[in-house]
This record gives sequence, C-alpha cells and structure tokens, in this order.
Amino acid sequence: MRKPIIAGNWKMHKTASEAVDFINQFKGLMGNTDVEVALCVPFTQLWAVKEALKGSSIKIGAQNMHYEDKGPFTGEISAAMLKEIGIDYCIIGHSERRQYFGETDETINKKLHSAFKNDIVPILCVGESLEEREGSKTEEVVRRQVNADLKGLDAEQVSQLIIAYEPIWAIGTGKTATPEQANETIALIREIIKEMFNDEISEKIRIQYGGSVKPENASDIMNQEDIDGALVGGASLKPKDFIEIVNF
Ligand code: PGA
Repeated sequence: MRKPIIAGNWKMHKTASEAVDFINQFKGLMGNTDVEVALCVPFTQLWAVKEALKGSSIKIGAQNMHYEDKGPFTGEISAAMLKEIGIDYCIIGHSERRQYFGETDETINKKLHSAFKNDIVPILCVGESLEEREGSKTEEVVRRQVNADLKGLDAEQVSQLIIAYEPIWAIGTGKTATPEQANETIALIREIIKEMFNDEISEKIRIQYGGSVKPENASDIMNQEDIDGALVGGASLKPKDFIEIVNF
C-alpha cells in the first residue's frame, strides 16, 4: 500500500513570519491522518518553518536546489546546505523552473543525483504543455522527461522518489485535468517506471497529480487508482483550504 502524500508548493509566497503564522494555525487544524503532509516553502522560510513544525508529523521541503555541493554559483543554494536544515523533500524540475529559469532534463537529472547523495527525497515534476496535449504528444513528452530525468538512478532511489504529474495547462489556471485524464497519464508514468526498472519499483513509487487541486476536486482526484497524492499550489496558502484537501 502506498501512503498518500499531499504536499503544498508555496512558490514565491509568504515571508518567514507569515509562514510561522500559517504553521501555527495549520497545526491546530490537523487531526490524526493516514496521509503524509509536506510543505515546500521558499529558502528563507526553511529554518523558521522547521522550528515551527517541531513535534508535528508535517514534513518540510524546498522548491529547488543547485546540483553542485558548493562553488562559484552566485545566488544558488546547494543540497548540502539544505541537508543541514534537515529538510525531507525538494521539488525538482517544476514546470515554472523549466519555463522561466532554463532548467533542462540534463540539469534536473544532476539535481536528482545530488538530492539523493544528500539524503533529500526529490519531488520530480513532469508534464506537457497545452500545445503538446492538443497535438497528442502527452505520452511522448512525459516518456522523454521520465527517461532523461531518472538516468543513472538506481532502483532503491527510484522507489523513494516522488513524481508529480503536472500538466502545464492546469497549473494556476483553474483548469484541472479530469481525474480520469490525470489517472491515465499517471498510470502511464508507472508503466514507464516498470519498463525502466521493474514491477516492484513501479508499484512502490508514489505519483502525485498537480494543477489547480482545491478542496472541491481533491477527493475525486485522490480516489483514482494510480494517484497517490497531490502537489498543491494556490490552495496550500490558506490553512483552511489546505486542511480540507488533506482531509479529502
Ligand atoms: P496550482 O499549482 O495548484 O496553483 O495550480 C500547482 C503547482 O504548480 O505545483
């Protein structure tokens, strides 16, 4: 049985003090749950959020990292630096980073290797654009991304990895993929993992859906057979919305 994981992706939102306010409210709303909950926050909030989460089961993640441990890369943050904070997860290859910051499957692959080396579990994002979906290229794009991004990883690493299928056309647009569309592509990703590794790993790996997940559609999405969680942007910024998704 795969444990569902609902992760918030705050993107470039909240100051550290606003983040701590959120955590304090959210902790008060969280009851006992079988769902794993994580919050991926901006770098400047990581220490404060880690501190505020003490004693709770909520996990913490970053949203990006550099693939080198250190070096002349002004403005960058390495996995080794994140490791010292004690983070659990790091989103890697989000479409906004692919689109606006020139991330390629090659750099994403290096980041995945570096994350595992530093005991950080990556949440790898893949997904097609609207043009690619309309041109029936979803399978080709997702297959190319998964093949290239996971290159050289071993089966043990991949069994821990989390993949988030995020169709670009559904992110921040209010346009959600139907639960069936999401499940279909996620089942395909599981199949690709099976081809690259084996049955056992493909059954173990957790694959989330992301793109306009909100309290109203969370249960339909989460009830799909192959969907093991959600990566939630906008609706993770308010404690009340996010708890409703966690309690889908
Ligand atoms: P959204 O973002 O929920 O605001 O669409 C999801 C994401 O980009 O991870």
